[in-house]
Amino acid sequence: MGGNRAVLGEYRTLEDALWAELEELQRQDALARLTVVVPSTWLVRHLTVAAARRFPDGLFGVRLITFFGLALELADALSAPSSLAAPIVHERLLLHWLESRDPGGSLFGMDLRTYDFASALAGAVRDLRDAAVPSDPHVVLDGLRLAAGESASRLTAMDVRKFGVLLEAYGSYGAALEAAGLQDRAAVFQRAAGGAARAADPLIFYGFYDMTQVQADLLTELARHQHLVLLVPNGRPPDVWRFGQWFRDTFVPTVTATAHRLPPVEEPPRPEIHSAAGEADEVWFCAKEIRRLLDDGCPAREIAVVARTLEPYLVRVNAVFPEHCISYTGVPGLPLLDHPLAQSIRSFFRLALDDFPRQAVLDVIGHPLFRAEQRRDRWSLLAARLRIHRGSDWFRLGSPMAETRKDLPAADLRRLAETVASLMGRTWPDIASWREHAAAHRRAIDDAFRTEALLEQEAAVVRTVGEVLDTLGILDRLGGAVSRADFLEAFERECERRVLPPRDTEGVAVLDAMAIRGLSFRHVFLLGLNARVFPRFIVEVPFVSDAVRREVFRVMGHHLAVRTDGYDEERLLFHLVRSAASERFVCVYQRTDARGRMRDPSPLLRSYLPLDRSLIDAVPRTEAGKRARGNVRTPREIMLEAPDAEEALRVFGRAGDVLARARAFLRQIECEGELTGYEGRVGPLPAPWARRAAGLTASRLEDFGTCPFKYFAADVLGLAAPGDEACEDDLSPREIGRLMHAILARLYTQGIEGSIAGAPAVRAVAAQVCDELERDEGLRVGGLAALRVEQVVRAVEAFVAWDLAHLGAWVPTWVEAPVSGEVGGVPIRGILDRIDRDPSGRLRIIEYKRRFGGPWRIALETLGRRGRKLQAPLYLGLVEGARLGGDGPGPTEIVLQFIENYASDDPTVEPIRERCHSRRLDAETWTSVQPDISRVVQVFGGLIRDGWFFIRPQDGPRGHCAQCDFGNVCRKGDARAPTKAARMAQLRSYWGIVRPQPPRP
Ligand code: SF4
Repeated sequence: MGGNRAVLGEYRTLEDALWAELEELQRQDALARLTVVVPSTWLVRHLTVAAARRFPDGLFGVRLITFFGLALELADALSAPSSLAAPIVHERLLLHWLESRDPGGSLFGMDLRTYDFASALAGAVRDLRDAAVPSDPHVVLDGLRLAAGESASRLTAMDVRKFGVLLEAYGSYGAALEAAGLQDRAAVFQRAAGGAARAADPLIFYGFYDMTQVQADLLTELARHQHLVLLVPNGRPPDVWRFGQWFRDTFVPTVTATAHRLPPVEEPPRPEIHSAAGEADEVWFCAKEIRRLLDDGCPAREIAVVARTLEPYLVRVNAVFPEHCISYTGVPGLPLLDHPLAQSIRSFFRLALDDFPRQAVLDVIGHPLFRAEQRRDRWSLLAARLRIHRGSDWFRLGSPMAETRKDLPAADLRRLAETVASLMGRTWPDIASWREHAAAHRRAIDDAFRTEALLEQEAAVVRTVGEVLDTLGILDRLGGAVSRADFLEAFERECERRVLPPRDTEGVAVLDAMAIRGLSFRHVFLLGLNARVFPRFIVEVPFVSDAVRREVFRVMGHHLAVRTDGYDEERLLFHLVRSAASERFVCVYQRTDARGRMRDPSPLLRSYLPLDRSLIDAVPRTEAGKRARGNVRTPREIMLEAPDAEEALRVFGRAGDVLARARAFLRQIECEGELTGYEGRVGPLPAPWARRAAGLTASRLEDFGTCPFKYFAADVLGLAAPGDEACEDDLSPREIGRLMHAILARLYTQGIEGSIAGAPAVRAVAAQVCDELERDEGLRVGGLAALRVEQVVRAVEAFVAWDLAHLGAWVPTWVEAPVSGEVGGVPIRGILDRIDRDPSGRLRIIEYKRRFGGPWRIALETLGRRGRKLQAPLYLGLVEGARLGGDGPGPTEIVLQFIENYASDDPTVEPIRERCHSRRLDAETWTSVQPDISRVVQVFGGLIRDGWFFIRPQDGPRGHCAQCDFGNVCRKGDARAPTKAARMAQLRSYWGIVRPQPPRP
């Protein structure tokens, strides 16, 4: 070690010292092969570029390499290379240990045999391995127990006990890793120490201000065999450079004979502080500033954008920088599982295990690269219409019920059935080795997806998934066959860690704070300088407390990193980021987040913040405020503001007709005039729509009265209401209504033919109806739906019991009776639930409703006049017109029975009061209201014929939008349309009906 030297100084002078060192060594021996070892690949890249600029003729014989790269070379030169274990291997090893140590799964009183726990344990084990802690737990524990007895020690018995358990895991992990012929990073450094004598001589270590114990051990070995020069970052003030003190003050002197301190450097630029509201504004401000610098001639490579962690900024940077024509580098690639193809592959693997859930199946077979028929646009609708949720539901695709349904296109049904059958027919190994599982899944990808026709990024996805499968194949070395569920759990976990290769570009460096160490730029923008972000919030690891870590170092000399020393590192990092700037150091903190919640600036800024915060430049939140700053505008911003958008587009070489059309559209809908074609004024209906609109019923007219667009969407366009398919296991309100009506219709039909036998009959009929609905329409009555059926049955039982007891002279005579006729000159039809007749020939109409409440509190004639509830008056009129009772006195009344309400009363406690559960309209009242009803039908019918389908929103808990299925397709957010509709003369009669003026006092 005699000739080894250390040179200490700030990075800025240290780099010059490195070049001087290289020049000197080459001067001594022009053919010398020099190796410069650095801590990171970013530093390798930076020094390579800097050397190319400084030595235009090249640096012959000089090689730049990371410390880990050197260790790998030395280790592999010593013995056959062994595979580097991926993180999933560490986790599996520790999962094995957890299971073998505690088969019952109650370590620390909890079942901790999970990947997450194993991962946390792996972090602690990695710290021990980096610190080269002896694997014999007795040696370590004895040492610590002795230390615990000293007065200076802060160790508790619990600390030692917990550490003892961790040491067990640590010992088992090391032995298992070795037995499997695998290695981790610590093992690489340890093996490399044996090959230190083979390293090239001399070695220059540049830029290390701290090391793990295994790195330090290798360096010690290298120092014994080779000539070393250590260029160690160090500087002032001491509290900034507290982190890594042990390395500089204790370790470096042990491997070097002399140390030379470089002169202090000038103070780095003072932070220039700005505040912003949320990440988006931070990046916007940064982009504007960078664009200005680039326009002023600053090369992009002289600018860096830094954040403590880049993750919160990536989406914004990827959107805003290209818009400002800023090329950039350093941004990590897209996470593998964010790519749609990777998501499809993962879902494809899981389908059989998850019992083929509908959405996952549709996602997989709908992927453009999935090998299937090209026409798949209606598959999703087909699956929804057949109420397919998962598993055996898919067999409905080939059932006679599906084939006979007219609303399901047969060709699409067949293709979907074939595709799903091929998915369900695929065989997977159940219990197999990791390698066999991996091979089967790799084959399955090629079988199911068009892997021969991939774009560049898709090819990267398939390649990365293949690498993950290869990694899992290695797990065979840990022994044992595994189930497919275990295999896929490990697969997904490993996929979550992978990212796709980033774009290989040049430009502004976008880096996290760790990557910028040792680099230099003219301008550095540091984002996210907020409390708990930079410095990050640090917590101790529960398995090894900081007290234990300190004692291990103090007693045994193994440098085990102390977590809370991380705050010292954060302070140093801030200093290094600041020192990386030679001209300007711009710091941006969030005064509020994007939602306006206050945030504190970082304590690292404390000494630079003015007392009066209003002196800090605040990036405005509003667009107008941003415009007023007078920054350079992007083409998009210019086009959005330009009075002549087409001209602006032409200037930027783009076609302007799309924007012109869009603007014309906006002008039309935003004008204060009349309703337009975009707002439901569609004009006389084309023939196919007119045919659908022709069959008016009471409920369709009610829909029109509620909201004309709702009627248009449901009855003219025939859009499927999403509500039916959304109820996974339950019945939708529509289905409950159908079920209730079907049971009552069947019961009273039986009553007409013979007699209604009471409760047992209700249950038998309900079972029949459910069977038929299951068979004919794919309605699945299980789980929640079965409970719902039970509710319906109980309600029907209660109603029927009451009804039979009060029928008196009335006899149910017609059930589900179709009637039609003309009202106000408009053809109307309907199906009446039940008509009773008495011996004198009088009729009464019974209509079944679910529940009493809401609008039913208002009198039926008033509801009819307002077009809200038209069934009662219309049905009375239709029965009267149809002369259903022959020459008898005709209908006397219509009674609406609210069936579910009958189940809420207990007749054994109190007699059921019918008037609380029904509503009536008698013939006399109907006669007085008839002209108004005719007018309602005439007005609504006329508007439908002329194509007026504007929106009539009414939000809030009592508004009708809450019960509407078409809120996601209508434009109820457009505030102008309702106002325009309210003002139009053609619609005055409509508003006169649905929203009459209150009578004048
Ligand atoms: S959500 Fe409201 S405005 Fe939209 S269609 Fe339904 S009822 Fe009309």
